[in-house]
Order: sequence, then structure tokens, then C-alpha cells
Amino acid sequence: MPETWKKILETVDKDKEKIVDLVSQLIRIPSTNPPGDTREVAGYISDYLNNLGIKAQKYEAKPELVSIVAKVGSQKGKKILLNGHVDVVPVGDATNWMVEPFSGKVYEGQIWGRGASDMKGGVAAILSTLSILQSYDLLDRLQGTLECSLVPDEETDGYLGTGWLVDKGIIKDGDLAIVAEGTISPLFGYGICIMEKGGLTLKLKSKGAEAHGGMPFLGDNAIEKLTRILPKIKTLENRDLKLPQKVVKLIDRTKPLYQEVGKLIGFPEEKIEPFLKQLLVNITRISGGVADNVIPAEASAIMDVRIPPGIAVSEVYNLFNELIAKEGKEDFTLEQLSYWVPSIEKGEDSPAAKLVEKAIHKVDPSAKIYHVYSSGGSDAKFFRALGIPTVLFGPGQPELAHSANERIIIQDLVKAVKIYLTGILDYLAPDDS
Ligand SMILES: [Zn+2]
Repeated sequence: MPETWKKILETVDKDKEKIVDLVSQLIRIPSTNPPGDTREVAGYISDYLNNLGIKAQKYEAKPELVSIVAKVGSQKGKKILLNGHVDVVPVGDATNWMVEPFSGKVYEGQIWGRGASDMKGGVAAILSTLSILQSYDLLDRLQGTLECSLVPDEETDGYLGTGWLVDKGIIKDGDLAIVAEGTISPLFGYGICIMEKGGLTLKLKSKGAEAHGGMPFLGDNAIEKLTRILPKIKTLENRDLKLPQKVVKLIDRTKPLYQEVGKLIGFPEEKIEPFLKQLLVNITRISGGVADNVIPAEASAIMDVRIPPGIAVSEVYNLFNELIAKEGKEDFTLEQLSYWVPSIEKGEDSPAAKLVEKAIHKVDPSAKIYHVYSSGGSDAKFFRALGIPTVLFGPGQPELAHSANERIIIQDLVKAVKIYLTGILDYLAPDDS
């Protein structure tokens, strides 16, 4: 590692308090989604960048959904995309928290609050990386472009955040992308997420006929009809999906994480293989009936379906439709409420994963690195749809996302900034470094 790089990385340690403050500040600015209003937090970020002398462009998918895009570097040659979302999920029951959820309190070497790990910590790491590069006058001397996008709407599938920027051609190309979601954990070390499942939310309605509870044979019980079909629907989990070979190969690469770390979190060994390669079908809500003594004419169930890469969402929808048609088309209707597509790195040797891996080893030679397969979605899907090699890597513990007492380990934050700096300097090496 060149001497100047070492000095730059030492600056991260010196700037630790500033980075911590930035995370606490970001946590304190409300951006809960829904409703997902990011005007205030985007304003804060835009001021932060302007104060560094970096031009921050604002884009609005809707007046309250503001994205910030900052492009730095020579604007030619190679291009790295860094991305983070500024919206957070709701808190739920605040009495389950040990701290006030929007306090950004610093305690026991960690910063506490909603969004600490998912992902205001990651956003602060991106901003701090820019700040340190700028303090060394390196931004203009990068041999290529660094394009940072800080977006809303990710927690509601991202189609009005990163998805919208891609749709409008504001983000259109890049050699690789890093989405700064939390992937570092005391449970397993460093994670680099190379693939993620898709999802499909379905509503199944059953139709019957109303009747007096004492004369059920004059009606047709919609709840009983629904409860008869649901176990059959659940068996769709056992379908052999015929995943493409290259997908199977990549999935197998992520298996060690579940085998080794699964034991620590109580992930049953026999569930690993089906979790990785089959559908997950969960009945998550059920409703029906109008009174205790009336045979119900209508009932419905919501199903949360998770889809491995290599399988189209429409193919899964058709599986459900075929089964329902077999059980009696006139008795049921199926409605698609929402979906997101699965996504995966194209090749086994993703340049994005390689850049991050190399940088981790330089910063932490004894690092343990796992390839991760996420069961939830992220904005990576939009970059991958453009053909840009994309990984998730950032500070924050994935197991704490969306949970009470969300927090981030300050040392992981420091490490992530060092890794981003190392990766950027390595890939877009300034001519005189
Ligand atoms: Zn996130």
C-alpha cells in the first residue's frame, strides 16, 4: 500500500468522531417510509456535499421523494457507482427499544437508532469517503468517475428512488456498483452480497354463498373452501424449479455462510438447501366472515412468496394460477399485489465483488469474507438490470435491519470507510498517488 494511502486511511481514525456525529445527525432526521418523505434528509446531504465543494444534483420523482446524485472525478474512463437509501422502516413498538429510536445515541461503542444499520450508517460512510478524498484534493484527480446516488423509496421496493433514476436515464452506466447496505457482522465477519431473491405478494379470494349458521347446506362456506386449498398451495415450495447451472453454481458459493453461521442463529441444517433453491410460500394474513352465526360468502389470504434468481416472477404467478384453476376456477380469484424481481451477479467473478474483496484484505488482512445471498430485495436489482456488476457491501449488521434496538458498531463504520477509500483509490488510481 503506497505511503499516501496509509496517511489517508489514518485520517479515517482521526475523523472517527465526525463520522459518528454524521450518523447520529442522519438518524435524527425523520425519513420513515411509509410515508417516505426524504426532503429534509436530502436537504441535509445536499448541504453537506455543497460545503465540501461537491455539486449535488437534486431529482424528484415526487415532490417529497428527493434523490441526490453527486458525480466526481475526471468524468471519463472507468466509473464506480456508490448507492445508499435514506428512507427507513417504521419503529413499531418503541417500548421494545433501550433508547429513543431517533436519538442517534452513542453507547458502548455503537450508534443506536432506526436506520443505524439500514442504512444511514452506509450513507454516512459514502459521504465520509467523499469528504476524506476531497480533503486530500483527490476527487478531481481520480482516473475515472465516482457517481454517488442517495435515494428514497428503497424500503417500498425502490421504483421511485434508484429505479426512477435508472428509468429516467440519470443513472445509465458504470463499470461496477456498490450498494452500501450493512453486510458486516460480529456473527460472521465481512459479507459481500452477490445475489438476492425476488418476491411476489398475492391475494387469494374464495367465493361462496351466505346462509344461516343453522342451515349451512343452503350456503357455501368460503372460509372452509380457502382452508382446503391453502395446504395445497404450500406444497408449491417443494417444486423442483430447474435453476440455470450458473445460478446453482453461484448459490452454492453462498452456502458456507448458512452452514457455518446458521448454527449460531438457529437456522435448521435441513432447511438450507430448500431455502437457497426453492420457493418460499408463506400465508401471512387471512380474513373472512361477517358474523359469528353467518356462513361466510367470502374469505381471503395474503401470500408472501420468495423467488430464487433464474426464475421469472411471471413463471411463479403461473404456477399459482394453474393450481388454482385445477381446484375450481369459479371458486377463487388470484390478484397480484406487488412484486420485485430476483437479481444475481452475471459471472462467477464479479468485478464488483473482487474490488471489495481485495480492499477488505488490504485493510484487514485476517478478514473472514463470505459471499451472501439475501432473502430480501435491494436497489442492486436496478443496477444489475442495466448489466452493471453490483454487490452489497457496507457497515451495519444485516441481522439488525428492521429490528428493535437497531445499532451500528463504530469500528465497523471506520473499517467500511477505509475499505471504500482503498477500493476507489485502487480502481480509479489518481495519476500521482
Ligand atoms: Zn436497506
